Amino acid sequence: LLATSCYHQQGRERAARSFPMIFSPPGAGRCRLSKIGATRRPPPARVRVAVRLRPFVDGTAGASDPPCVRGMDSCSLEIANWRNHQETLKYQFDAFYGERSTQQDIYAGSVQPILRHLLEGQNASVLAYGPTGAGKTHTMLGSPEQPGVIPRALMDLLQLTREEGAEGRPWALSVTMSYLEIYQEKVLDLLDPASGDLVIREDCRGTILIPGLTQKPITSFADFERHFLPASRNRTVGATRLNQRSSRSHAVLLVKVDQRERLAPFRQREGKLYLIDLAGSEDNRRTGNKGLRLKESGAINTSLFVLGKVVDALNQGLPRVPYRDSKLTRLLQDSLGGSAHSILIANIAPERRFYLDTVSALNFAARSKEVINRPFTNESLQPYVLGPVKLSQKELLGPPEAKRARGPEEEEIGSPEPMAAPASASQKLSPLQKLSSMDPAMLERLLSLDRLLASQGSQGAPLLSTPKRERMVLMKTVEEKDLEIERLKTKQKELEAKMLAQKAEEKENHCPTMLRPLSHRTVTGAKPLKKAVVMPLQLIQEQAASPNAEIHILKNKGRKRKLESLDALEPEEKAEDCWELQISPELLAHGRQKILDLLNEGSARDLRSLQRIGPKKAQLIVGWRELHGPFSQVEDLERVEGITGKQMESFLKANILGLAAGQRCGPS
Ligand code: ADP
Ligand code: MG
Repeated sequence: LLATSCYHQQGRERAARSFPMIFSPPGAGRCRLSKIGATRRPPPARVRVAVRLRPFVDGTAGASDPPCVRGMDSCSLEIANWRNHQETLKYQFDAFYGERSTQQDIYAGSVQPILRHLLEGQNASVLAYGPTGAGKTHTMLGSPEQPGVIPRALMDLLQLTREEGAEGRPWALSVTMSYLEIYQEKVLDLLDPASGDLVIREDCRGTILIPGLTQKPITSFADFERHFLPASRNRTVGATRLNQRSSRSHAVLLVKVDQRERLAPFRQREGKLYLIDLAGSEDNRRTGNKGLRLKESGAINTSLFVLGKVVDALNQGLPRVPYRDSKLTRLLQDSLGGSAHSILIANIAPERRFYLDTVSALNFAARSKEVINRPFTNESLQPYVLGPVKLSQKELLGPPEAKRARGPEEEEIGSPEPMAAPASASQKLSPLQKLSSMDPAMLERLLSLDRLLASQGSQGAPLLSTPKRERMVLMKTVEEKDLEIERLKTKQKELEAKMLAQKAEEKENHCPTMLRPLSHRTVTGAKPLKKAVVMPLQLIQEQAASPNAEIHILKNKGRKRKLESLDALEPEEKAEDCWELQISPELLAHGRQKILDLLNEGSARDLRSLQRIGPKKAQLIVGWRELHGPFSQVEDLERVEGITGKQMESFLKANILGLAAGQRCGPS
């Protein structure tokens, strides 16, 4: 806004002086755009990523506030690793522009080459990403002295369309512009602020449209300024602690190049260029945002979060690209991926206070990262809190996986600090020492970040492209899971203790409950399944009195019966009708005799104490005895009218064992 205001006030001549590159004659280092075959279809293009490190601003020299990041070559940079003073993190990008790079360097290196595709009917987009204050607006808009990507691209495109669309050329070209912002997931027309939230649609050819969005034809840079300057004033800006004119919305400038063939077959082509100054990617907690600001940040982060996922999906060639998950990415659906040409410029700042947001921005943008085993500078990120704790060489070197042999490229990189020199005594410092003296809020964030990095890094997940919001959600989930695991462990311990106590108690009380040996069971948090064999108390007493007696206890298991010896641990399965064989003949005879005695001498009431003998059957037995005399054997019961052979058998089975063991039969 500042830059374009100046253009407006000072006029085109002044602007021409400010943009010598743009206004210089064709061929003199300016745009070398050319039309190429209209029908050729280029292969799908991924999103290219460049990083721009701005210089120190506001007089914050590097001496009192040393940088935490620096370039290594034209594609990579390194940043101090807060976790380990002896390591740096090296990031690799399509391009890296250091603090001395000019606006022209960025434009010519990363933006100008994609503009030619607009005249092929393809789309392109340039997005400036990064925390507030890191230089997004400077990169996109710039100042009159240092015009940014937007004025340079507009100048070039307009110049090109004039040349290509001149009379006598096969195509007639026209350029229109629209300017909108996405604020809290609402699409607002900055050229017509009264229009309200606009809808994003897709036509049958997959072209993204915004019905109702103002489109202004522009034929010159003056036209562009006339529309752009007042529209910029409509932008929603808010003050945060980080930056007084911090943008809280995504500003999207859309430039369309329409082409119509002058002769048959009168083809038409349209190329769209999106120039986007994204909202700040900084963390809410650091800007002191509250209430509405926090809500804004949330919305901003949602869009940026989805943008990160879209870029990831495109660059990894994933089958599903989540364009529809945010307004920003939906709008860019036909201009990110496919045949579109896109460049993401991640802006970062060198100051230490930006460290966390810089790491976050780099992780968002990075294609690859590696840990380099060398100190970043003699001063760490918290140089004044370091204590003289001596560590062994092993500790100094850090984890083995972090160690990498230095490549020739790294060797070549010069450094003002004696980085490659062996660690001095003052460098042999414990990271823990540093942490203990850190601001607790900062420490908490670093530790959370560390946990996440460790967990993701170990799985080889796309660590570097995980946006902030997703990290927060992940960290929360990890914490919740940890708590849940702790809770389950405690519960398991309680249950185990309970079971052991119960077992000890049972042993003390000589409880007849027979649990299987512990080693045969799996200890779980679930309620233990009791596999107890209940047997009459008298039986146990009898067994104790005659330990050699072989008595087997009937046990039901499913449809089969299991016979389990009191002595043996291993149960053995037997057929149902073999039960009698398991009782020693003496005991069997003893039981039979007792039943016979009862049948011959017992009253009706006594007989009812036998199993399966009710009052009716007891009366029948007594009546039969009076008529026929005593029973000679228990099987004579079968002769009693009303008692069948089957009933007699069941009677024997039910009574003989208890009586054999000296049991007094209870009522059935
Ligand atoms: P953002 O838009 O990301 O919030 P700005 O573009 O407003 O950040 O930059 C913040 C400050 O830093 C501005 O004063 C701007 O002029 C200055 N600045 C940013 N990048 C550079 C650069 N490459 N060279 C010089 N100054 C810069
Ligand atoms: Mg800005």
